[in-house]
Amino acid sequence: MSTSFDVIIIGAGPAGYPAAIRAAQLGMKTAIIDNFVGKDGKNSLGGTCLNVGCIPSKALLDSSKYFEHIGGHYKSHGIQTSEPTIDVPTMIERKDSIVKKLTSGVAILMKANGITVFAGTGELDADCKVTVTPLDGSEQQHLNADHVILASGSVPIQIPGIPYDNETILDNAGALDVNAVPESLGVIGAGVIGLELGSVWRRLGAEVTVLEALPEFLATADTDIARAAQREFKKQGLDIKMGARVNKAELQGGRVVVEYEQSGETHQIVVDKLLVAVGRRAQTAGLLAEGCGVTLTDRGQIEVDDECRTSVKNVWAIGDVVRGPMLAHKGTEEGIAVAERIAGKKAHLNLDLVPWVIYTEPEIAWTGKTEQELKDAGIPYRSGSFPFAAAGRALASGDTAGLVKVLAHAETDRLLGVHICGANASELIAEAVVAMEFHGSAEDLARIVHAHPTMSEAVHEAALAVDKRAIHRVN
Ligand code: FAD
Ligand code: AMP
Repeated sequence: MSTSFDVIIIGAGPAGYPAAIRAAQLGMKTAIIDNFVGKDGKNSLGGTCLNVGCIPSKALLDSSKYFEHIGGHYKSHGIQTSEPTIDVPTMIERKDSIVKKLTSGVAILMKANGITVFAGTGELDADCKVTVTPLDGSEQQHLNADHVILASGSVPIQIPGIPYDNETILDNAGALDVNAVPESLGVIGAGVIGLELGSVWRRLGAEVTVLEALPEFLATADTDIARAAQREFKKQGLDIKMGARVNKAELQGGRVVVEYEQSGETHQIVVDKLLVAVGRRAQTAGLLAEGCGVTLTDRGQIEVDDECRTSVKNVWAIGDVVRGPMLAHKGTEEGIAVAERIAGKKAHLNLDLVPWVIYTEPEIAWTGKTEQELKDAGIPYRSGSFPFAAAGRALASGDTAGLVKVLAHAETDRLLGVHICGANASELIAEAVVAMEFHGSAEDLARIVHAHPTMSEAVHEAALAVDKRAIHRVN
């Protein structure tokens, strides 16, 4: 096997493997090294995203959504069924088979593009040399390349003193593999992962309590959107306690006693399972040999410039291991851009317009600035919003929760932010990203013909509302 490459990529998640494909497309001799071990004990490409992140969580969100709708929502359509039951092992098997299909698909793509795959841990030495420690225990291999791309991703943050066993105290991987619906589930952290996985098990019948240290719900989202979402989650029975900082959790008699501080007082809840979802941190353990020269930020991320160059010539870093939102699509675009830069092309990526999505029900999605950010920056703006309850398509499907909010510059009308809480927000946000990438105005969105009846009409109406001329509500 060859040991000399144009490009070596360490990490085959959604940042690393597209970088490898693009490098190969551009004619570079490419290798990728990955150490993720799947449920079958073998290396499974695709990283956190395909194995224990985006895809498996969405599979369970869809299964649990259908279950909840049969039990409730569908009744209003006149659909009569006996009380539904859930066969959790079948649901998990379905999720696993989707993961297998996609991770095997990545292996097929590597082969089809002539990319050499090393199943093992890669460590960067000086001068773009890389040592691979194979997962199968065979002898180390020494590789070299003209360029190295670090794409080692992230791992869950642990709270000191709360160890996971992934049976009772779970991280994201454990919460995707629970084999029966727990009577009660505690979730530490009301971030994206806590809300999504908390929703899965609540829909299936668990009593879910979410403990969030911050006083403000979804502080990174626009306040109007966060409030609308919080109201819906409350209606659904998700018990979210704000300003509740967890410091301790202990196993007692097979259950977990969770202790948290709220308003200066200590409280306790006892739950059958506890999900720790307090964020993720850059994964650099075992990646950087002493003397390789790559520097880290004070947050432990690999330091990079705007174009993903590290402190070492010809060593690049992309995805969750560097600054910016920890989102799969952000890493993918960084990976493709870096492969193109290595090939001498000009590649551009606008991190300001990366769309954020939370796949709860209703979904939450946004791009650009929030109203609070505009206020803080002193940027003059106009705002228009439109509730889904006034959109015909939303009424027809029963998806009336939430709203669209459009923010535009008060003088130029240029779009500054679009925020959506509602069904299919994950798809609707794409229109806003395109409009904003093309420096569009609220007037542009207002003049574009939107099909009727669709959920996208709410985006159209919110853009009209910026100029106080929405048609289907009083301005
Ligand atoms: P990763 O996906 O973490 O991949 C890194 C890979 O590198 C891994 O396979 C790892 O084993 C390997 N590796 C690490 N170090 C080494 C080494 N030294 N040698 C060899 N291999 C190494 N994002 C979204 O955009 N949408 C979502 O809906 C979404 N849902 C999520 C749900 C959950 C439950 C979680 C946990 C995350 C979710 N994310 C979502 C975030 C998303 O998964 C990450 O942003 C994304 O996976 C980051 O991609 P990456 O390639 O940088 O790193
Ligand atoms: P995210 O970074 O989106 O995954 O969200 C993680 C959430 O966990 C953040 O909103 C944090 O405020 C919250 N969090 C972190 N540590 C604690 C803690 N000890 N107790 C409760 N919430 C926490």
